[in-house]
Amino acid sequence: MNQLLGNCTVVDARALPVKDAGVWVTDDRITAVGPYGKIARQARESGPVVERDLNGAFVTPGLVNMHTHFSLSLPGGGGNAVKDMGPHDLALYMADGARRTLDCGVTTVRNVAEKDHADFALRRAIKAGRVPGPRMYTAGRALVCTGGHGHESGDTMECDGPVGFRHGVRSQIKAGADLIKVMISGGLAGEHEAISTPQLFADEMSAVIETAHAWGRKVTAHAGPAEVIGAAVELGLDCVEHGYQLTPQVAALMAARGTALVPTLLVTRCKEFFDELGVPEWMQCRSLGAGPRHIESFRMALDAGVEILLGSDMPPFWSFEGTNATVRELENLAEHIGPERALHAGTRGPIRWLGLSDDLGTVEAGKYADLIAMDADPLDDTSAFRGVRFVMKGGVVSREDQR
Ligand SMILES: [Zn+2]
Repeated sequence: MNQLLGNCTVVDARALPVKDAGVWVTDDRITAVGPYGKIARQARESGPVVERDLNGAFVTPGLVNMHTHFSLSLPGGGGNAVKDMGPHDLALYMADGARRTLDCGVTTVRNVAEKDHADFALRRAIKAGRVPGPRMYTAGRALVCTGGHGHESGDTMECDGPVGFRHGVRSQIKAGADLIKVMISGGLAGEHEAISTPQLFADEMSAVIETAHAWGRKVTAHAGPAEVIGAAVELGLDCVEHGYQLTPQVAALMAARGTALVPTLLVTRCKEFFDELGVPEWMQCRSLGAGPRHIESFRMALDAGVEILLGSDMPPFWSFEGTNATVRELENLAEHIGPERALHAGTRGPIRWLGLSDDLGTVEAGKYADLIAMDADPLDDTSAFRGVRFVMKGGVVSREDQR
């Protein structure tokens, strides 16, 4: 099927915007992008075309959220309700989250710990078209030492010693993991730990990284303290989640090694979300208290030239401060890096990390037609993404608001 999107400006993190553009989509991929008159003529000559007037909208690639959990359960009442779900309820709950996420204009997610391998069933259902949702790249269960960060629920697997961690990596890959997530330090949500608690020994970290790399999987680590991050980066870690307590030296090492950072700035500034879920006082204090150092750490990464990628940690679709968590986090990033780099951090950068640059990340001939549209210019102001009103994934329109 041929589709033509017209009366729009195409913006991506690669080239100058194309004003008065046409985007010609054939089946699930983009056939051509360019000046409307020329593209429309070519598309119409090729056969029947479904044409859409986007009313002057700005079209970008779909957003990519690199730190998501559809089965998130933080300490507290809201989280316990998710934790107590049986497998059928959990799968449906996660499918609902996936649909809402796509509606927000998030066409790709990276899941970094999901319960009970329900993520693999969801990924299959989305791929087969049985459930609407973003393209999912998932780690399965996160690997954690006994009693380590996140051990309380079914989205982690406890391992100990290099042999245990090798087994952990292999068991997630066996189940279908696209990448490996490992918790190498404490965090905000663990009652018996501090953010700065180191949780893996070097031989355990290298067992994870070497085994995953041997199988062609990247590794991302939940990590706070600089020393722990530095050691893991030296061992070949591909990505750091949160990075609460970086130093300039460790940030420089990350930049030199090409290790990306998903700062998840939201997690230390989301009291409203915590209150909504009934998150206990001790965790709120720790989270919100870690905020200033978290920002300082993020600034160090920026100064060092570390690749920054969008990730919310909060469920990507969650209503928060007048928008959804994904867009709110993108705004947080943009406050420091500006709208142009924010667009990169939310589209092309993550796609490159995922190894999908041939297929996604830009609005370009040959790529999958994962396109979103909004009325304001996202290169002027990242808050333009609050107004996403059109979502297409692989040529299929899943949202088209009437104006
Ligand atoms: Zn997380």
